[in-house]
Amino acid sequence: MDKPVRIALISGDGVGGEVLAEALPCLDWARARGRNLEILRLPYGADHHLATGEILPDTAFRELRDGCDAILFGAVGDPRIPDGRHAEGILLRLRQELELTVNFRPCRPLLPGQPRLDIEVFRENTEGPYCLQGTTEPGRAVDLAIHTEPAVRRLLESAFAAAARRQLPLTLAHKANVLKHGHGLWLRVFEAVRLDHPAVSARTMHADALLCALVQDPAAFGIIAADNYLGDLISDLCAAFVGGMGVAPSLSWAPHRPHRCAALAEPVHGSAPDIAGKDLANPVGMILSTALLFRHLGWEAEAAGVEAAVSAALGTGARTHDLGGSLGTRGMGMAIRRHLPA
Ligand code: ATP
Repeated sequence: MDKPVRIALISGDGVGGEVLAEALPCLDWARARGRNLEILRLPYGADHHLATGEILPDTAFRELRDGCDAILFGAVGDPRIPDGRHAEGILLRLRQELELTVNFRPCRPLLPGQPRLDIEVFRENTEGPYCLQGTTEPGRAVDLAIHTEPAVRRLLESAFAAAARRQLPLTLAHKANVLKHGHGLWLRVFEAVRLDHPAVSARTMHADALLCALVQDPAAFGIIAADNYLGDLISDLCAAFVGGMGVAPSLSWAPHRPHRCAALAEPVHGSAPDIAGKDLANPVGMILSTALLFRHLGWEAEAAGVEAAVSAALGTGARTHDLGGSLGTRGMGMAIRRHLPA
């Protein structure tokens, strides 16, 4: 038998646990189909932090890094911890210290009448202005943005490889006209990586112009590469084309595999405290993230099976409140499970 794939589960906060619970049957289903997987449940999140003072202890981090293959993550963020220290110490730490440079956010139509688009956002996931270095002084605040050539190169190489494989055009979003240093580096690395992919139709665009063009004609875009901040904004806009935050999946990975644990699947949305605990969250983003994780593990049949089950459920009219329906989180999860192939 294959060596077991060990997947860590972290629910986090708010709707994180509710949507993750609806993805777990997909793991059971993959196991029933013969996939050898082990689960490690970890308690980290706001409740755990407030009860124990712990955020993500080093022993747990090492167990994740060296003893697991991937992480399935709900969401973090809690109004009781307004400075977000636990979110930084869990999710941003995992992204940065596991070097999960590539955050992949695909966007395809899920419901009738949606634009016929096929967009994949490749967002750098560890640097830019999200490196959490800055200061607040009286009357003055500074957020530092760091861009390093290895991370930018890894992100762009992954984006170009996807553009070549999928035969989609590639657009790099930037603001090098004002962010001359950081985004200037992005442009230089872009030109270098482009030389290795002469068949890819690749261009750069100022991010503001790109957003305007994206709203006017989303089907004209394919792969969009961007730094951490612009990629966050662009991918949320893309989610709006296909049903909003509740349906958008993501997978982060470390292309150079510095550790055993080299992937983290999570929905694009946050912990959504406004709807937490009310059975209102749409689990589709989380379930489609699980499919991305299956594909990353090489389990293509299982990835396609989960994606087909989501399409089939939506095709029969199953809808949560955010999509204009009346199903709760659990009801939607059940509607999707019914369509998983035997
Ligand atoms: P973060 O910064 O952590 O990404 P955010 O501030 O962007 O979080 P979210 O928690 O993603 O905020 O919520 C944004 C909005 O989207 C909220 O109104 C929330 O209710 C809604 N939303 C988020 N997730 C879902 C979901 N799974 N189903 C339905 N609505 C959702």
